[in-house]
Amino acid sequence: MTVIEVRSPAGGHIIGSVPNQDTDEVVAAIAALRAAQPGWAQLPVAERVRWLTRYRDWLLDNEYRLAKLLQSETGKPWAESNLEIPYIVDAINYYTRIAARSLAARRPRRHGLLAITKQQLLIQRPYPVVGVITPWNFPLGLSLLDTVPALLAGATVVVKPSEFTPLTVVAALDGWREIGAPPVLAAVTGDGQTGAAVVDRVDFIQFTGSTRTGKLIAHAAAERLIPCGLELGGKDAMVVLSDADLRRAVNAAVWGAMANAGQMCTSVERVYVEAPLYDAFVAAVTAEVRRLRLGADDQSYRCDVGPLVTAQQLRIVEEHVADAVGKGAGVLVGGRGGTGTGYYEPTVLVDVDHEMLCMQRETFGPILPVMKVSDEAEAVRLANDSPYGLSATVFSQDSARAERVARQINAGAVTINDVFANLFTLALPQGGWNESGLGVRNGANAIVKFCRPQAIVAARIGPRREPTWYPYTRVRGAIMHRAARLINARSVRRMLG
Ligand code: NAD
Repeated sequence: MTVIEVRSPAGGHIIGSVPNQDTDEVVAAIAALRAAQPGWAQLPVAERVRWLTRYRDWLLDNEYRLAKLLQSETGKPWAESNLEIPYIVDAINYYTRIAARSLAARRPRRHGLLAITKQQLLIQRPYPVVGVITPWNFPLGLSLLDTVPALLAGATVVVKPSEFTPLTVVAALDGWREIGAPPVLAAVTGDGQTGAAVVDRVDFIQFTGSTRTGKLIAHAAAERLIPCGLELGGKDAMVVLSDADLRRAVNAAVWGAMANAGQMCTSVERVYVEAPLYDAFVAAVTAEVRRLRLGADDQSYRCDVGPLVTAQQLRIVEEHVADAVGKGAGVLVGGRGGTGTGYYEPTVLVDVDHEMLCMQRETFGPILPVMKVSDEAEAVRLANDSPYGLSATVFSQDSARAERVARQINAGAVTINDVFANLFTLALPQGGWNESGLGVRNGANAIVKFCRPQAIVAARIGPRREPTWYPYTRVRGAIMHRAARLINARSVRRMLG
């Protein structure tokens, strides 16, 4: 068995290792989950809720240890390393609260001639094994965000974390065993091949990661006719209208672009500012970005921006900045690697256009390109000039105007006078349009998404034969036809016709 060494993005030294599990090990892990699943699904929802709330308590009791591990493998500033567990705890509280209601059997109202004599029941039956494959930017949060509703649905879950940041997920999933919960949650570790082996064996695949891998997974899922949820990359636009609150827009743009060193699917990756506000916006953003502290801070809150997690990511950032500069962009601050492995200075680019990689492709780094637009229509046109459609942001103090612009932007979510806000509103669906994804997570259907609806239809009255059954006769046909007309037509002429 080969081993994957996990390195600190901040110093490059080895901080741990995990096995690069092969297909046989994935098969064994999934077989064990499959064996445990019927018992888990048969538990009353309240019992599954109880296990999840115990797990929430375990996460809180182990928060500091997990956040430290997370920081060591991602290089995030402490303020950000310390956010993932509170986020998941909030999600567990939300999902456990809605679980019973979401999964309750329903009896829809009967309609029409053919349904009126039937008893209708709609129940939700979980997919037995759900695979959750996740990226390196929010290893724990993204792994548990889909795992929790899937478990509540009665599914079992196998999580395959990124090979770059597997340690925290493995440690966190150990907690499930530690609390003595049924063996319905497992981690497998390894690279893309391990992930592909998961896709080949589960009943539902929930993937968060790049659009490139998402398309491979969609193909593999189509071959097996299993459903997949894909949460993919983005190129989120921020539109700053001339009547925006400048200070708030500037602070949102800087945090939105630089948080997690820009390695967020929903990072602000391009800003369009209406001409009257452009100069003031650029000056203030540049000053704010200059103030950001780059580095590794342990638990001291000394740093605002950490390193990029992978060397490949650093190369993409360098390529996008070099391409922009080569095509005439100006660098107002940053524009080069920081001292030490993996760092890139927070950067503001101006004089950019849509010929440049930094305005077209996902950069996933601490880069903020700002473009002047003449009006609202141009801002909308440019915001929509992208293969992606994850989310976007609009700043204006005129709420009607902001909403009008939001409704024209082609993205799964638009925040107004805010940034990333939809990541925290779990009651709303979160999902990308176009190349940013397929399906949604969160929202009212977060739990039933991991279920197959089953319709159970029973006869309410039991004559020897129904009017639609054999034998076909002229008289019964005429009666059925007449009755259907009387019930379905909405005018006397058509009822009698
Ligand atoms: P990635 O696609 O390279 O890898 C993601 C995961 O897929 C890893 O665990 C990897 O091992 C696995 N994988 C790779 N090849 C596979 C295959 N053929 N079959 C199955 N699994 C395979 O993505 P990344 O570089 O880890 O993450 C960054 C990307 O994730 C960015 O594009 C970012 O925008 C996106 N992302 C999206 C969201 C969202 O909610 N929309 C959230 C976070 C990150």
